[in-house]
Amino acid sequence: MSKVNLKGLSLSELQTFVESLGEKRYRAAQLFSWLYAKSAQSFDEMTDISKEFREILKHSAALDNLELVTKKTSAQDGTTKFLFQLADGLMIESVLIPPEKTSPNAEKRLTLCLSTQVGCPLDCKFCATGTMGFLRNLTAGEIIDQVIQAQRQNEKRITNLVYMGMGEPMLNYDEVMKSIDLITDESSILIGAKHITVSTAGYADHIRRMADEDRKAKLALSLHSLDNEKRTQLMPITKKFSVDELIDALEYYYRKTKRRPTFEYILFDGFNDTEDDIRKFIKLSKRIPCKVNIIPFHSIEFTHPLGFAAGLHPTPRARMETFADALRKADITVMIRNSSGEDIEAACGQLAVQEKSLVRKQSRKSETKNITNPQLHSAVS
Ligand code: SF4
Repeated sequence: MSKVNLKGLSLSELQTFVESLGEKRYRAAQLFSWLYAKSAQSFDEMTDISKEFREILKHSAALDNLELVTKKTSAQDGTTKFLFQLADGLMIESVLIPPEKTSPNAEKRLTLCLSTQVGCPLDCKFCATGTMGFLRNLTAGEIIDQVIQAQRQNEKRITNLVYMGMGEPMLNYDEVMKSIDLITDESSILIGAKHITVSTAGYADHIRRMADEDRKAKLALSLHSLDNEKRTQLMPITKKFSVDELIDALEYYYRKTKRRPTFEYILFDGFNDTEDDIRKFIKLSKRIPCKVNIIPFHSIEFTHPLGFAAGLHPTPRARMETFADALRKADITVMIRNSSGEDIEAACGQLAVQEKSLVRKQSRKSETKNITNPQLHSAVS
């Protein structure tokens, strides 16, 4: 009989499970608390559950914990990047991002950036994860376990979550929303929905769905250009949902929820940082009240980009400031993000892709020694 992985099950699913074992429903609430509030890593830790029931659980259920493979902390800014191995051997990344010193309540804030897929099918030209292709969606349990395992590695409490790591959250919508429901449950990790942001590369239909379902988590759009042609070059998803369709969906979202979306905007030298780009942004802000995060470009030269991607370079800092000031003069809330963790490969997918090169090198070297880790290899090939 295959074991049921309990991590990721909701309270009602746990109730169904314990009842299937002939146990009382209240056992489910105990399990829920041990899984999500107390971060139990084994059934033996669940000390208020009888020994007999724990033995039954060991035979019929599993706790698939993410395994920490690598942890790197930036000497520059304290950003910490985790590489986790999933139960099937695939690899994902999560990144702990300390607050900008100038942000309100900086000493209390700690943000974790979560992955939602292994790899990503969207092939954005500036992204290391995009070069990996798509392997599979994460389960709600694998998403929530990134929070649990990162918290176990860190004394300071994680206060904010951003679904902006590897993968496109809207392509794994049900598991993403289930993970948020679990995290925000009052018997769980308890990070409030207003401290959680879901980011999309541009799925207009799911932006409308979030509004229709009155999802309380915040919404961010990786925008990067308001010019349809340029955005299509950067982000092929624009062929499916044009800039105009995205803006319509965001206007719908704002009217329905009264919540301002955030636009993520990586500045590329001479490509999307012109006066025309500023004018388009100001026009957009008249239609949709918004916040803008300007993000410096992390080079992905280590992936050996070709063609269009090879021509992408970071906008110089002075030009970045000019761009931000022009938007601020139009009453747009603008943050210029620090280039977090550049010394630890903290750009999305960078560590996993570099791990892939490492594995390839290792496998070449070790052909005669047979020491290649097949799970690690399958994670990244
Ligand atoms: S930026 Fe996000 S959506 Fe685009 S390829 Fe990378 S992970 Fe996927």
